[in-house]
Amino acid sequence: MNKSRIIPPEELKKQKEIADEVLSYWKQKGKKPLAHIITYGCQQNENDSERIKGMLDKMGYGFTEENEEADLILFNTCAVREGAEMRVLGNVGALKHLKAKKPDLLIGICGCMMQQEHMSKQVKSKYKHVSIVFGTHALYRLPEIMLEALSDNKRVFSTENSIGAIAEDIPVYREGDIKAWVSVMYGCNNFCTYCIVPYVRGRERSRRPEKIIEEIKELAQKGVKEISLLGQNVNSYGNDADFNMDFADLLREVNKIDGIRRIRFMTSHPKDMTDRLIDAMAECDKVMPQLHLPFQAGSSRVLEKMNRRYTKEQYLSLVDKVRAKLGNISMTSDIIVGFPGETEEDFKETLDVLEKVRFDSVYSFIYSKRSGTPAATMPDQIPEDVQHERFDRLLELQNKISREINEDYFEKTYELLVEGKSKTDENVMTGRTPEGKIVNFNDDGKCRAGDFVNIKITKVGTWSLTGELVL
Ligand code: SF4
Repeated sequence: MNKSRIIPPEELKKQKEIADEVLSYWKQKGKKPLAHIITYGCQQNENDSERIKGMLDKMGYGFTEENEEADLILFNTCAVREGAEMRVLGNVGALKHLKAKKPDLLIGICGCMMQQEHMSKQVKSKYKHVSIVFGTHALYRLPEIMLEALSDNKRVFSTENSIGAIAEDIPVYREGDIKAWVSVMYGCNNFCTYCIVPYVRGRERSRRPEKIIEEIKELAQKGVKEISLLGQNVNSYGNDADFNMDFADLLREVNKIDGIRRIRFMTSHPKDMTDRLIDAMAECDKVMPQLHLPFQAGSSRVLEKMNRRYTKEQYLSLVDKVRAKLGNISMTSDIIVGFPGETEEDFKETLDVLEKVRFDSVYSFIYSKRSGTPAATMPDQIPEDVQHERFDRLLELQNKISREINEDYFEKTYELLVEGKSKTDENVMTGRTPEGKIVNFNDDGKCRAGDFVNIKITKVGTWSLTGELVL
């Protein structure tokens, strides 16, 4: 048996029955209700929103992007950055007038932000027009929460704390049918000193491999071509479980599934990146030549204060090992600028890592103080103007590197998985190379989403490439 707590099937059956009651509630009213789900934060949250939509779909809801026509407006929130939390509260506050005009409208907030006690208390006392609040651990109980809010017309708060559990077989509503995220594990055990994730998403829980494989096989049957395996630290997959399988083994199993042509995964903690995993990446033909490997800071002194448990030198030698085995694959990373105590010399070490590794792109963040984490009370918090100045220098260097790397793509031909029309120009199609580069191209109506085509790159930019079909 998996050591992780699994939500018992009878509990999930109960939720399904309650979902049917909500469905009947709306049928009796003779109305097709609409929900507007607004998602902040990481892919884990995107994946949670797909499950929220899956459950709402079973309760009879359709979906809209317009607040005015919605019967439910639900914010699925992120707690990683203070700025994002403020934005959520601002957006929720702005809905007070709409709620006054439409008293039956349900407004809800869920996700990581609501898993913090001080936040849910603030919403309870100051945002009286919010009717539903639930944290990450109560997501599977959405049917029960909805029924209570609709039929008893009262505010429902479900923010119990727990180390977390796994709820399998929750319906999932996916927007696209070409690519899919599949969570392989939840939570994190690492306690990096700046990060709130272990507090709001609980400890690591690995899904059973047979459940993951079953889900991916079903997706393949529906025509999905690309899978992204998801977890806060996929490299420790299986460590918490009794089954004898690690992430390298899981990759090999997913690689065998007919119909799936591309596999990606994120996120990998450098301290847990094993030779076995690098070997598996080399052996599995469907694993794309791309690796997201957050380094966070270049100074070993800062890394120690972050509790990352590797040094700059260890990180760089890991990158060398990856490239020796996998060639010049596309690499991306996460970086925090202005961590407490970061000196100019420390920051220059971060720039040095950028120059040595030459990432294709990075997700860089100015350090954001999160109450409850050890870093929030560390001395020597860096003034904002210094943080911003360093951040701008980092972006300038990275943009130059990204552009130079992209220039190597010029006039070369790549296999592209076509994702559909471009969001900014509907006469242009868009897709990704195996390395994950976005390429826009004109197809004269020849392509459909899900096609694999060969594209010759005709123009390069910092963020994307332009190409033409090679017939
Ligand atoms: S590895 Fe560190 S940064 Fe990543 S989720 Fe876990 S605690 Fe947060």
